Order: sequence, then C-alpha cells, then structure tokens
Amino acid sequence: MKLQRVELRRLDMPLRTPFRTSLGLELRRDILLLRAETTQGHGWGECVALPEPGYCEEYLDGAAEVIRRFLLPAVAAVEELTPARAAAAMAGIPGHPMAKATVEMAVMDAWLRARGVSYADYLGGVRSEVECGVSVGIADSIELLLGEVAGYIEQGYRRVKLKIEPGWDVDPVRAVREAFPDVVLQADANAAYGLADARRLAELDAFGLTMLEQPLSAGDLRDHAALARMLRTPICLDESITSARVAADAIAMGACAIVNIKAGRVGGYLEARRIHDVCAAHSVPVWCGGMLETGLGQAANLALASLPGFTLPADIAPSERYFAADVTPAIVMGTDGRIAVPGGSGNGGGLGLEPDPNVLDGYTTETVVLPVR
Ligand code: MG
Repeated sequence: MKLQRVELRRLDMPLRTPFRTSLGLELRRDILLLRAETTQGHGWGECVALPEPGYCEEYLDGAAEVIRRFLLPAVAAVEELTPARAAAAMAGIPGHPMAKATVEMAVMDAWLRARGVSYADYLGGVRSEVECGVSVGIADSIELLLGEVAGYIEQGYRRVKLKIEPGWDVDPVRAVREAFPDVVLQADANAAYGLADARRLAELDAFGLTMLEQPLSAGDLRDHAALARMLRTPICLDESITSARVAADAIAMGACAIVNIKAGRVGGYLEARRIHDVCAAHSVPVWCGGMLETGLGQAANLALASLPGFTLPADIAPSERYFAADVTPAIVMGTDGRIAVPGGSGNGGGLGLEPDPNVLDGYTTETVVLPVR
C-alpha cells in the first residue's frame, strides 16, 4: 500500500451543547478531517486539536500545517505502508501528537478496509458495546447543574463526570452527590490546581468519587504522587500521559491509579494501545476520553474502548449530544448507557462507517487536495 492523494477538509459544525475551553465558551466545533487515498483504497482520519492551544500546545491550524508540510511527505515516502510504518515514518519529527494521530488514523482505516478487518479487531477489542459516561461542564448555578445531571441520568449515562475548578468544586460535587447518592461520580480539574490546594481537594474524599482527574499541571508527576498520598480519592491522569513511557513512569512514581487514554493526545491508536498494555500489566484501569469528535473519531474511540483494560465508562457521547447532524450515521446510545462498537462482519472493515457526502459538504469550509509523492 502506498499513499497517493490526501484531502484535508475543514468543517464548521455548530454545537448543540456549548463546550467550555480554557479560552471561553465554544458554540461551534472547528474540525479537520483527513481523507487518505492509497493504492489499496481510502481511509479517514480526524484531528482532535482545538482551534487554540489550551488543553495542550497543539492547535488546529498548526496541526494542519505540520500534517501538510512534514508528516505527509514522510509517510508518502513509505513504499509498503502499514499503520506501524506510518507511525515510524513520523517518529523523527518531535511532538505534534494530535497531527500524527490524524495521519495514522487515516492510514490505519485505509489499511484495515483493504483487509476487511475492523478497527476493534485489529486493536484487540473484546467487547461489542462500550459503557458511556457524560462530562458535565461548569454550570452557571448549582440548581442548573442538578437539572442538567438529572437529564443525563434519565438518558442512561453510566456515570457522571463533573468539571471542577477553584471556586466550583466541593459545593457542586456535594450537591450532586446528595441529590444522586448512587450515581457513579468523578471529577475532572483539567490541571486547575496546585499542590497547595491539597487540603481543599481532600474535602472531595467525602463524596465517594471514582476518581479525581488531572488535578495538577501536566508536567507535575512528582506533585501528583505527593497529592495521591494525601487523598483517598484515586487520581487519574489525562493531560500528563503523553506516551506509554510516561504512563510507566507515572505508575512507578505512584502519581496515578487510573489513566484516561485519548489517542490524539498520545500520537495515535498504536501508542494508545501500548498505554493500555502498560497499564494492564500494572493492574491500572483505563478509560477512553473524548475531544468532541465526529462519528469518525467516535468510531475509532469505541474500538479502542473495547480493549479488555478499559474497565471504566468512556467519555464517548452519542452524536445527538453535540451535533444536530453528525457527518456519519449517528452514533446512538441505548437507554442502558451503552454504545455498540462498529465492526463485525460485513461492515467493510476499518472504522466501519463512512461520512455522508452531502452532510460533509454542508459543513465544509475549505478543502485542500494534496498530491503526494
Ligand atoms: Mg480530562
């Protein structure tokens, strides 16, 4: 298999549920899709970078530039292309994991479609459905938060994750716990605290949280280890875990008891699987995070989340949570809070779904076609 032609598409998709980033409330999702044409057929990749740096250093325009100028030429030079060879060809360029994951995802999709193998089977998935949780942003009031959470529980989500930050932490968590004593509850701080906040964070121990996600800065593994010794609530790392190597270090240091895996954050699904394997070897449970992906990214995430070590509910939402119309057939959640993993026989292999050309064109703001040599 060899890369022949690549289409980079920018989409502008209005969000049904506003999404808070470090820079404010987003009402739209700016998305970059990559369609790779190879000598054996095509495949799709989706870039999870946000328009501005914030969650991490990468941002969408930067990722598009790196893909176009550096990653595609490296991958196009590979004669017998496989997902692993695509990743190896890009490894010489430091950083830019979300850009690399986009290219790897498309190559993997094309390679698997050509072989009639699903993403889930290729990665080593063992389950046909994934348990889904909901991530709830900072609300304008506790009353509004409780109403929102009640709606999600009614829809069937298997656990509730509350975003917290200084000034919005113990009170909202307490209120949700008191209103919903049995709900599986966790909190995500997106690196908003310092070790000096340990006493405040320890107050969360009273609410039976499954985990406290990324309380401190991404680089602060040692401080996370210190904090873990002061809290009863297990610490989960998200932003900190950029590779299997870092995951191994974090586990060895006692910096986390749980890991959130996002393929985009770690450079692709192959590295995501290695992190799963490292964690499984240490009996550290993992779960699949989300970055407001379209059905394409969600399909790949569902495949990843079907691996045996993914024993906690995923941040994989049905399409209707964020998009009036997804680019793919809608990802649908059952009333039991589970979403089927695309795949199985007769789906054509790869991601197991294809964007609707009309819906795709409706959202597309720019298409760049790159002949690759
Ligand atoms: Mg997180």
